[in-house]
Amino acid sequence: MTTMRILVTNDDGILAEGLLILKRALEPLGEVFVVAPERPRSGSGHAITLHKPLRLHTVHLNDGSLAYSTNGTPSDCVTLGTTVVMNGRCDMVFSGINEGANLGWDVTYSGTVSAAMEGAIFNIPSVAISVCCSEDEEPEYDAALHFAHKLAEVLRDHKLPPHTLLNVNVPNCTMAQVKGVAVTRQGTRQYVDRVEARVDPWGRKYYWLTGSLANEDVPPDSDVAAIRAGKISVTPIHLDLTAEALLDELMRWPLQ
Ligand code: MN
Repeated sequence: MTTMRILVTNDDGILAEGLLILKRALEPLGEVFVVAPERPRSGSGHAITLHKPLRLHTVHLNDGSLAYSTNGTPSDCVTLGTTVVMNGRCDMVFSGINEGANLGWDVTYSGTVSAAMEGAIFNIPSVAISVCCSEDEEPEYDAALHFAHKLAEVLRDHKLPPHTLLNVNVPNCTMAQVKGVAVTRQGTRQYVDRVEARVDPWGRKYYWLTGSLANEDVPPDSDVAAIRAGKISVTPIHLDLTAEALLDELMRWPLQ
């Protein structure tokens, strides 16, 4: 068996604990290249950098290994990582392990998931993996670490269809505490109280985007439901956002 070449990136930045943990989880399976943003870029979505130079800097991770940091976005990291650092020879992209969930509609904001989407655009099997800790919880990466390794093994033998990726969310616990693995569909995630208005020392208003999760019923086959049940959630995602169900009806609208 030839060794796999795996790109590891994230949106929490080159210094994030989850990045190094993911790298170490995948290392036994092949050659792992780490290319990550030089600063945290959570919530940057699928942004790319077009109007300023991108730089790649070599850095050493906490285990002493070589990695690359960029001034670009998570998506830029995948482009530079696969084409420049890996010379176009990349077998898999793993993005994470993100500190915080990427469930439901959150995937559209997520730099973690967008990096995996970029991998899917390049038609490389790609995975986004996140640990579902809340803001006030310490992340426990054990379950995510073990599942990342297992999933990379599975993906070696099972092909993803073109331009699809897997969005994985893992409960904030050890592998022994996980209640199972669920294949899920993308759920919804509604927030309430999204904007908090405050006043700065000069009397001018400013705003924080915030919000807590709406306590809604969720479909039992959704990613949100799986995490609530203490399970690992694996959601297949594709890049085609077309609302299939509306195509036929839209053709009957007086648009001509
Ligand atoms: Mn993040």
